[in-house]
Amino acid sequence: MRIYKFGGASVKDAAGVKNIAAIIKQCPDQKLLVVISAMGKITNKLEELTFAYLYGQENTHEILAEIKQFHFEIVGNLFADHGHPIYDDINNSFVEIEWLLEEEPTDAPDYIYDQIVSIGEIISTKIVATYLEFIGTNAKWLDARNYIHTDNTYREGKVNWKKTESEIQKKLLPAIENHIGITQGFIGSTSENFTTTLGRDGSDYSAAIFSAGLNADSLTIWKDVPGVLNADPKWFDETERIPKLSYHDAIELAYYGATIIHPKTIKPIQNKNIPLYVRSFLAPNDEGTDITGAKNHLPIPSFIFKVDQVLISIFPKDFSFIIEENLSEIFNLFHNHKIKINTMLNSAISFSVSFDHDAKKTEKLIADLSKDYNVKYNTGVELVTIRYYNQQTIDRVTASKNILLEVKSRNTCQIVMKDKNS
Ligand code: ASP
Ligand code: MG
Repeated sequence: MRIYKFGGASVKDAAGVKNIAAIIKQCPDQKLLVVISAMGKITNKLEELTFAYLYGQENTHEILAEIKQFHFEIVGNLFADHGHPIYDDINNSFVEIEWLLEEEPTDAPDYIYDQIVSIGEIISTKIVATYLEFIGTNAKWLDARNYIHTDNTYREGKVNWKKTESEIQKKLLPAIENHIGITQGFIGSTSENFTTTLGRDGSDYSAAIFSAGLNADSLTIWKDVPGVLNADPKWFDETERIPKLSYHDAIELAYYGATIIHPKTIKPIQNKNIPLYVRSFLAPNDEGTDITGAKNHLPIPSFIFKVDQVLISIFPKDFSFIIEENLSEIFNLFHNHKIKINTMLNSAISFSVSFDHDAKKTEKLIADLSKDYNVKYNTGVELVTIRYYNQQTIDRVTASKNILLEVKSRNTCQIVMKDKNS
């Protein structure tokens, strides 16, 4: 049993759907479950629609019309016969949203978000499954909400592993015995059968849950890059593909912000020792990256850049030492403001932290901290994390920068820095 996962970029248009259909058809033994995200950037559009509805904006119906048109254009390019049942099927999915939009919004915005945004995955999988059947593949559309069970934390459903694993074994396994299963990433359901989502970019995580539940032989994540690279080509001219990666390094890279794989993805497949292959859907026969339990040390240093960071330094007002009591107070404030710390360093009289800049959140946090502490801060700074660093790599990234903070452990170095002339 293999699991394939395709993200939004792979199905952003009809050519994309045809391409992934060809990849699915090539799968050697056809024992396959395919997990698919919403098409292109539709999840962003559906978020826009949700907020327009919740805030009573006038453009709600325009946004919905745009979303419909986007999908019907793809359907039109795949199914020339406008009498094909897929047209009605997709229309019915939209009718459900239209009904919801006619009601007054309730005071459960996160619940509403999940009911609307999840439709992106429902529709993309319907289109792909129907197209695969149309070209003679033994595909079957399956509703992920029958297998992935979560609590009712809308927008960030926590998986009930016990129930999920047992439903996957009991219901999903027989359903894909003689079929290629096509199912949704990103979504699950509560015990009352309400739809939940697993957090943005959660489709990789869904694929990992299915892989673990099915004890799959492998999981392949198909991307628009040739594999895991040692840096984001956006920031580096010369990047290298990493052919083999350990689970451990993959978790570390994802944790520090490499966007290649969702950080939650690795643990479930590591627990079951399932290899994760990262491959390019643009060059499906090329080598990519194999992530396994093998103890491969990363062959080359890897770089993870985060721009638009804030660096703040916190000092007790009475110049006393930063002690555990202060630290727990400070951490609590970060937690309450839902700010994730990217790097930190404490000294005798100060505690420094960097995090992603969000004007509103930063302002509120600083206001709260300033009640008990003196706070200095710097916006517009960059954070680079180097896994398997050496002095040469540090010099390379800091050439035209002022270093504001440097934190080193045995294998990882984090540097907060600012352009020399800014
Ligand atoms: N469609 C969802 C998102 O864009 C889930 C995913 O793509 O992984 O966040
Ligand atoms: Mg995505």
